[in-house]
Amino acid sequence: MEPYLSRLAALRAQMASCRLAAAILAPTDHMRYLVGWADSGHERLLALVVTPDAARIVAPALNAADASANARSLSAVIPWTDADGWASAVAQALGDAAGGCVGIDDELHAGHLLRLQDMFPQARFRSVSGAMSALRAVKDAAELELLGRSAEITDDVCDVALRSLREGMTELELQGIIAEAYRERSVGMTFCIVGFGPNSAMPHHATDETRLRTGDVVIIDIGCGLQGYQSDITRTVAFGTPDPEAVEVYRIVRRAHEAVYGACRAGVAACELDRAARRVIEEAGYGPRFFHRLGHGIGLSGHEHPYITEGNAEPLALGNCFSNEPGVYLDGRFGVRIENCMVVTEDGGASLNRNAPLELPIL
Ligand code: ZN
Ligand code: ZN
Repeated sequence: MEPYLSRLAALRAQMASCRLAAAILAPTDHMRYLVGWADSGHERLLALVVTPDAARIVAPALNAADASANARSLSAVIPWTDADGWASAVAQALGDAAGGCVGIDDELHAGHLLRLQDMFPQARFRSVSGAMSALRAVKDAAELELLGRSAEITDDVCDVALRSLREGMTELELQGIIAEAYRERSVGMTFCIVGFGPNSAMPHHATDETRLRTGDVVIIDIGCGLQGYQSDITRTVAFGTPDPEAVEVYRIVRRAHEAVYGACRAGVAACELDRAARRVIEEAGYGPRFFHRLGHGIGLSGHEHPYITEGNAEPLALGNCFSNEPGVYLDGRFGVRIENCMVVTEDGGASLNRNAPLELPIL
């Protein structure tokens, strides 16, 4: 039953300190983290209802057997049918808690929440995201092991991708090679951004039919899930001799990326890491071209707490994992981003990925 019983206990402690009488979690990574299982109910309500003395899944009859077989540390599964609807099943799961303050998963369907508000006018509904983030942001040893292995697989797949670059190939062809390399390693690719030439200047470019040409800067941003635990790296290389400014920008971004490890330790505010990287880029004159946050937490979700932003003064804790991904983007020309995921240890910030090269690799 471990680690699920202790995670539910930790959530109950958080609920007590936030004065929540119950928490309703949608079938998201929150549910997966707490009971080891989640499956979409699609438009039907499927929820984990946690009260001080019970953890119950309210499930469509279609999913009830799966929930009973696979979810851990549950008190009960309460099925509901299309003929009867879910109202009485949720009322049963909430019990007396329906009269108090109920924490709601940010990703619960708005339609389900609106219905709950109508059903329980005496209840107050608040986000449970703060309580869940406090739990999930600190990784235990088993989670760190999976994150490390996930990162290692992605490092290897990235090497395969870089070795596969050929003049005239399309971004989508390279994406196919990356997906296949993940399949060979028995994991699923969770996302893939490939940007050739000017497309590398768009951080969220949608990989397309653009062909690789000599002199292009290439950005590859990829990740996979290993037993749910995500990886996420970005590498920037040049295919043949690039714009000389790209070589210089790479050095600046690489220095910004490095500065984050030096600034990272438990107790430091998340915004200080963003600042450490941004300072390097601003001093080099490219400040406005680094127009996104430094990083995001990573775990069961690809993006989760803690977010490493200019406005986040929350102190970092041992076991926090997040990306370190400074970037500089010159519209219509090229972009450079270097991303590793890292963990806060007793010795400061440690990378889960292999180090990026110090100079722009010219392939
Ligand atoms: Zn990424
Ligand atoms: Zn990322």
